[in-house]
Amino acid sequence: MTRRLWSLVVVLLGPLAMTAHAELRTTHVSGNVYLITGAGGNVAVTIGDSGVMVVDAGSAALSGELLAEIRKLSTGALRYIINTNVDPEHVGGNQALRAAGATFTGGNATVVGGVDVGAAIVAHEAALLRVAAAGVPVAAQPTETFYVPKVDFFFNGEPVEVMYTPAVDDTNIAVHFRRSDVIVTGDTFRLDGYPLIDLANGGSIQGVLDALNAFVDLAVSDTLAEGGTMLIPGHGRICDEADLVRYRDMLTIIRDRIAALKERGQTLAQIQAAKPTLDYDSRFGRNPEWTGEDFVAAVYASLGT
Ligand SMILES: [Zn+2]
Repeated sequence: MTRRLWSLVVVLLGPLAMTAHAELRTTHVSGNVYLITGAGGNVAVTIGDSGVMVVDAGSAALSGELLAEIRKLSTGALRYIINTNVDPEHVGGNQALRAAGATFTGGNATVVGGVDVGAAIVAHEAALLRVAAAGVPVAAQPTETFYVPKVDFFFNGEPVEVMYTPAVDDTNIAVHFRRSDVIVTGDTFRLDGYPLIDLANGGSIQGVLDALNAFVDLAVSDTLAEGGTMLIPGHGRICDEADLVRYRDMLTIIRDRIAALKERGQTLAQIQAAKPTLDYDSRFGRNPEWTGEDFVAAVYASLGT
């Protein structure tokens, strides 16, 4: 069978295979933090005396399975849901998870007008504006938003820093669990492809690089070995600083190649024909909906004129 036919078979079978294996898996990352995969985007969970906090809520269709998986880890109250962006595979479970939880203040504060208001949904203000404009039901919208660069709170015995990192769009936030030493990056860092820069919603290559550089600054490698600070990307396996640095370097190199060609007056079509992502496409350009060429176009546009 030719290569082209094989890729057609893969494309046709891919979605079926994924539906058939909607199997969730939990992995211990470090300290209080666990990673649940298979529910859409990566879902980070912290458990302990304060209760349960999740970073991202998975897809709506898998929220029941996700809740069951969380309950295997802890039966503690689900207090917080943090949204790293507004994509359906990250916030689809908001409503179901919120309904299953209770705000941190507890007691009477959880009941407003006879209705249990559930877990708090934390997001950047831009995320609330976006989902409200899109007509997302109020019960699935963020309940606690911020507009400053960083907010922090203490949960399960550790400082939790929520950082505003506008990168692939203007809703991105990342979460640093300081004692567990885990950074949940959202889709700014993803092992399944190039960052999906959404130009219409405030995304830019410089925003992506700024955010990745901020994560590199925060992360500390173990001496001469894998380990140290652990990173949970938006999609893909658990990473360490070396993985993050490789990703940051790749995007910096691609950005520089495109910028150099653009400075010489080349058009987007000419730059795409020069294939500035070629050496990375076999690994990161496999998403037919976000190829190396698509990424080049986004970088080209976000570099300005
Ligand atoms: Zn995602």
